[in-house]
Amino acid sequence: MSKAILCVDDEQIVLTSLKTQLFTFFGDEYDIELAQSAEDALEIIEELKLDGIELELVVSDFLMPGMKGDEFLIKVQNLLPNTKKMLLTGQADLDGITNIINNGALYRYISKPWEQTDFIMTIKEALKSYATEKELEFYTQNLEELVDKKTLENKTYLEIIDTYLIASKTDLKGKITEVSKAFCNISEYTQEELIGQPHSIIRHPDTKKEVFEELWQTIKNGQAWEGEIKNRKKNGGFYWVKARISPMFDSQGNITGYASIRVDTTDKKAVEILSVTDHMTNLYNRRFFNEIFEKEIQRAQRDNKALGFIIFDIDCFKQYNDTYGHQMGDNVLIELANTLRDNLHRASDYAFRLGGEEFGALVYDIDLEGITTLVKKIKSSIEDLKIPHTQNLVSEYVTASFGACVFDVNKNITKEKIFKIADDLLYEVKNSGRNNFKIKEYEEVD
Ligand code: GH3
Ligand code: MG
Ligand code: MG
Repeated sequence: MSKAILCVDDEQIVLTSLKTQLFTFFGDEYDIELAQSAEDALEIIEELKLDGIELELVVSDFLMPGMKGDEFLIKVQNLLPNTKKMLLTGQADLDGITNIINNGALYRYISKPWEQTDFIMTIKEALKSYATEKELEFYTQNLEELVDKKTLENKTYLEIIDTYLIASKTDLKGKITEVSKAFCNISEYTQEELIGQPHSIIRHPDTKKEVFEELWQTIKNGQAWEGEIKNRKKNGGFYWVKARISPMFDSQGNITGYASIRVDTTDKKAVEILSVTDHMTNLYNRRFFNEIFEKEIQRAQRDNKALGFIIFDIDCFKQYNDTYGHQMGDNVLIELANTLRDNLHRASDYAFRLGGEEFGALVYDIDLEGITTLVKKIKSSIEDLKIPHTQNLVSEYVTASFGACVFDVNKNITKEKIFKIADDLLYEVKNSGRNNFKIKEYEEVD
């Protein structure tokens, strides 16, 4: 048996009576140990300990020769704080009992002579209480271990996040309040240089201001913004990140600031950009045009937005090359490409070099009036460059002819159809004198 109850009394008759009663009720589960003095009892406690037997309950007399019950139980309390201790006595010394109670050593006090049923009930309760406390202790200990383990895990986890995740937090105005190590590494700023600064410190001039306007509008509305942005390093270099910026809320649902996490996509972006860029003008190439046109049609269909497409072609460019040379011709292409790009402001606008001296633009969410204004602007910006072109049939400067189309998207629309409409309009302009534009609103419902 691995559990025991110990009874201490200087009167043999009391011990015998206790033994009989306890054995009847608890003999199956417990060793019933007897001692005639507190000193003997302490020895038994020592032995039980060596044998690995758990002493769950001690019932002790108060008045005994030698060590008294109070001193004894306080000693047991120090040795075995979990063991339940009961005092069984007829001549209570009140001071002694107070002493045991104040030292937390006493579970119950029972007066002699005792009533057997009450006595057994009390013992049962004491043993039950011992078991419950032991179980509780076990869970507490496990919980502590678990918390320790989790704390360590979390610490490691946070360190990993700090090292690898480009993360930052800002206040409501966009002032940086927290940055991760990874953020410092990629931006080449120190933590001290970033904290308290506006987040725009890492803005790259290539990223359109409309992107940030859209971003702010989204997060101020309580939604998360996701997108790929080009950021500026401290030394003027750049890096690309895929970012997710989310508002943080307090318990009342008010926005308290913004948190962002980013993944470095610079390498991936470099390859991506290379494959979709026309290397002379740095505009998107024809390949990307085919790819994005399809996607933008689908997006417009989803959002029920109109889409605009512009195509333009330099007038008498063959003669330009013949007059000024191919190299000068190339420079004209570059200048016109820059002019086109400068006239497109929104993140969702795309500029393409579609072929030799043919350019295109895809404009999201635009109406007939909007696209007309835009075409006129691009056209006059080209004329304003005042690039001399003596052999141009319609002007002394370089000019271009435009065809454009704005259309409500529906499932009958294909990029081939739209392209053909704009291209046919451009052809009409070429045939009717050049340096002009034709625009059509196209709507087709199935
Ligand atoms: P139009 O007004 O009818 O458009 O006459 P155009 O001479 O511009 O048209 P055409 O299609 O006959 O000639 C286009 C010219 O564009 C031919 C070619 O020499 C020139 N071109 C095409 N790609 C390049 C290029 O990359 N660099 C240079 N310099 N010229 C190019
Ligand atoms: Mg031409
Ligand atoms: Mg041409």
